[in-house]
Amino acid sequence: MKLYNIKENDEQVSFSQAVRQGLGRNQGLFFPSELPKFDNIDALLEEEFIPRSAKILSALIGDELPEEKVAEMVNQAFQFPAPLNKVKDHTYALELFHGPTLAFKDFGGRFMAQSLAAVSDGGKITILTATSGDTGAAVAHAFYGMENIQVVILYPKGKISPLQEKLFCTLGKNIHTVAINSDFDACQSLVKQAFDDQTLRSEVGLNSANSINISRLMAQICYYFEAAAQLSKEERENLVVSVPSGNFGNLTAGLLAKALGLPVKRFIASTNVNDTVPRYLETGEWAPKPTIATTSNAMDVSQPNNWPRIEELSGIKQWGLETLGKGAVTDEQSAASVRELHALGYLCEPHGAIAYRVLNEQLQPGETGLFLCTAHPAKFKDVVDDILGSDIELPGPLAKHAEMALLSQEMDDDFEALKKVLRAVQS
Ligand SMILES: *Cc1c(COP(=O)(O)O)cnc(C)c1O
Repeated sequence: MKLYNIKENDEQVSFSQAVRQGLGRNQGLFFPSELPKFDNIDALLEEEFIPRSAKILSALIGDELPEEKVAEMVNQAFQFPAPLNKVKDHTYALELFHGPTLAFKDFGGRFMAQSLAAVSDGGKITILTATSGDTGAAVAHAFYGMENIQVVILYPKGKISPLQEKLFCTLGKNIHTVAINSDFDACQSLVKQAFDDQTLRSEVGLNSANSINISRLMAQICYYFEAAAQLSKEERENLVVSVPSGNFGNLTAGLLAKALGLPVKRFIASTNVNDTVPRYLETGEWAPKPTIATTSNAMDVSQPNNWPRIEELSGIKQWGLETLGKGAVTDEQSAASVRELHALGYLCEPHGAIAYRVLNEQLQPGETGLFLCTAHPAKFKDVVDDILGSDIELPGPLAKHAEMALLSQEMDDDFEALKKVLRAVQS
């Protein structure tokens, strides 16, 4: 697989390099130089999720990794389903929250972990990341138990929810969690200092495993195929897919699936009031505003970092950005949609409800609509209970972790102390 840097096109890398580096020069994103095209989509959709996903990812990665190796990685990463749930005529929820941290990020995170292990040269790897809650859990669970990879996660002590803390600070083994006596910005700044320290960086093999990594997007392509595979041939002729978007990685993956040959009539970019992209699609002007806190907080992003990839792909395919549907939803509207779905017999949290709402407004007769449910309702229990007056139950994995002991160590906002921690986990 060959990829190039969108900002500095002369920088060309392999899959291995792109996975290890994350970002290119000048903070440029990597993008595939060539995209394979599947001719017989119907036959591909006949296959089961795991073998089909292995085929798709192997076609993308090419001869850099043997097909059997890719199949093994997929098998390790995708140990949970992505089922469709019909909420009413012509409208389906694609449930992406059946992984260990109950959000779609498990697919990308786990495949990235497998990819990093597969392309490592046997040297030390230390994943260092700061979290204000959810990314920490996805990273911790994705790398949990992997040999030769140590994970250090910093978070602000007392500033994440107790349940979030329990979800990733109870694992042990190669997952090291550090509660910093300060705020999230201090955690991020410590991480940055570590990456700026070249000596430390090579000594412990620092890697950020961040959300911009191409291996994540590649994994996410697979569940769009899995969704189509669960529809009848007629239903998938006129398929419209609504994606609740923050950094726009999920939508990028959907568009890549279309580029590989998946028949999708139209995608819809659905956001909360952090609507930089819908406004841009309307006016042609890129004008981010300060980020606003909403009940769909995983989408509180005003400068979506994957957007350049969507521009790049649309340019290559000459799709025209005007073909992309769009819509922005307020907290009141998303709450109304959570209630509407509940009345239809479907429990949904605000991120998924936003995608449902915009889909519902824009679906035309003869079309089949699909909205992505990116998180389990229990993950946003407070908001959902508040909207519905309910007391929803925690699913097994969350309930289990809530009972376990915290294993975090405490640390002051002190770079020298962080260095000690990083050296200790690698000795
Ligand atoms: C991360 C996240 C999103 C946004 O996905 P992007 O790929 O960043 O657009 C939506 N919903 C949930 C629950 C998330 O965790």
